[in-house]
Amino acid sequence: MKTFSAILSAMVLIFVSCQGQEVSTATQIKEEASLIPGEFKEGQLVKVDKDNQLWKKELSDQEYYILREAGTERAFTGDLWDHKGEGTYVCAACGLPLFSSGTKYKSGSGWPSYYEPIKEEFVAEKKDDKFGWNRIEVLCARCDGHLGHVFDDGPEPTGLRYCINSYSLDFVAEKP
Ligand code: FE
Repeated sequence: MKTFSAILSAMVLIFVSCQGQEVSTATQIKEEASLIPGEFKEGQLVKVDKDNQLWKKELSDQEYYILREAGTERAFTGDLWDHKGEGTYVCAACGLPLFSSGTKYKSGSGWPSYYEPIKEEFVAEKKDDKFGWNRIEVLCARCDGHLGHVFDDGPEPTGLRYCINSYSLDFVAEKP
């Protein structure tokens, strides 16, 4: 029994350290990330509709967990919370331009934070009562990918804080 417990503890330890390693390995800022502008038809944003099997092939495990299963990365572990540079943060799944570097600010939360999206129509909002919290979830309006949440404790001029997962975003630098 003792041996069994020892083996079990060792397995748990290995599992926990692997988990830790996975989370602490920051995603690489993709060089091939591309911005794919939003298209409107009869005033409506043209959607990207793919089933989850296809998303699973296109996205990394972490991206899939966050974008398609509404997961959350641990604070201060993503590659974009402290990222600086002039450019555009696009949806990691469909390339829709979501946030401009000009609206990114240091919130201290450990997640990339912006005070407004590039276009209101590009970010959808949904009530999220999970865990008994009254929050507003934000999603990419084109592919329905989960991005994060929006709170009303942001800076001027909007007073909003779009608290977004790094894994939901890719950065496309402004061309000189
Ligand atoms: Fe998207």
